[in-house]
Amino acid sequence: MRIYLDYSASTPVAPEVREAMKPYFSDKFGNPSSMHWAGREAEIATDEAREVISRFFEVDFGEVYFTSGATESNNWIANAATSYQLPATSMKPHIIVSAFEHESVLEPIKYLEKKGTIEASYIKPSRDGFINPKDVEHALKENTVLVSIMYVNNEIGTIQPIKEIGKIIEKYKYKILNTKYEIPVFHTDAVQAIQFLEPRLDYLKVDAMTVSAHKIYGPKGSGALIAKKRVPLIPLLRGGGQEFEIRSGTLNVPAIIGFGKAVELLQPTTYKLQARIEDLKRKLKGGILRLVSSAKIVGGEPSAPHILSVIFPGIEAQVMLIALDQEGIAVSSGAACSTKAIKPSHVLLAMGYGEKEALSSIRFSLGRYTSEGEIDRVIEVVARIMKRFNRKRLNV
Ligand code: PMP
Repeated sequence: MRIYLDYSASTPVAPEVREAMKPYFSDKFGNPSSMHWAGREAEIATDEAREVISRFFEVDFGEVYFTSGATESNNWIANAATSYQLPATSMKPHIIVSAFEHESVLEPIKYLEKKGTIEASYIKPSRDGFINPKDVEHALKENTVLVSIMYVNNEIGTIQPIKEIGKIIEKYKYKILNTKYEIPVFHTDAVQAIQFLEPRLDYLKVDAMTVSAHKIYGPKGSGALIAKKRVPLIPLLRGGGQEFEIRSGTLNVPAIIGFGKAVELLQPTTYKLQARIEDLKRKLKGGILRLVSSAKIVGGEPSAPHILSVIFPGIEAQVMLIALDQEGIAVSSGAACSTKAIKPSHVLLAMGYGEKEALSSIRFSLGRYTSEGEIDRVIEVVARIMKRFNRKRLNV
């Protein structure tokens, strides 16, 4: 029996999404930039997808920029920050970011910082996985151009106080002289949030948002940077001038159609799905804590319904991951494998956990097709694996 509890890594494409995409691989293959019937056919379809997505986030049609996914969107917003004009030319742009962002936010910022292009402040989360809005306020400086705080942490599932942070930043916003642009820009990586939580940018007081299709039952390699008109953006990719002149490259038509369909499907399914997944997560958490007395839950509440992070003390996550895989159960570990060694989870380290614990966290992430029977089996297998390891450790 194969069980997939890694929906935060990727979700299967929903049947409705697959059907919507199909014609755009061969029958309707035109390039949306072409000025003939085949081009128009593709353009109308991508426009429809953009329309659905802009309605979902309550932004203008021209505020949705399709990208190759969240990694590109996050790199784009970080790179755009290097070009923002500051009151004094001697100042470097300053970026505020949480210390437990996804690597696709942290790495471009660290790179720009190392090159000397920007300054950065890294806000540490609390021990239970939350960014304190006051810490963001204290970090704001005259030269702050961008604040980037994720909506839901992808490893531990905690929901960050985005609206509260947005309200604070709003107080410090000013217009760049003689332009329509406003800084500091407030950006949130909402990849793990949009299927369950409030997505409207204005309501959240967010200027720019990163989203990805393959986390919401859409195709891989498709996402968007949603940015209000007041956000100054420079192209990351230059060329033919697609995406309102700022993100060149022929549109990935089937993927965009799939992304649009996946967003369209979110609304009618969300409420029931959320309640069901919340129940299953509660069951998984309760079962693990009941049968494995040493297990520790990482991260407090509020948390997203689909993510549960657990430390199994004394067992490196990779070992647990392989043991579960041998039983057909797919999960993820916070610790990452590089070519040389296993690196402890930067998320747990930022939260104040020690190296040993940061090497031992497992992420279970649930989704649309997770069943109660699967959760029962995962609890039973985890307990069995832990018993075996403890026996080995004690040499009995
Ligand atoms: N941000 C977060 C919070 C994520 O969970 C992920 C995917 N693991 C990404 C960014 C990167 O997304 P993509 O695969 O679309 O580049």
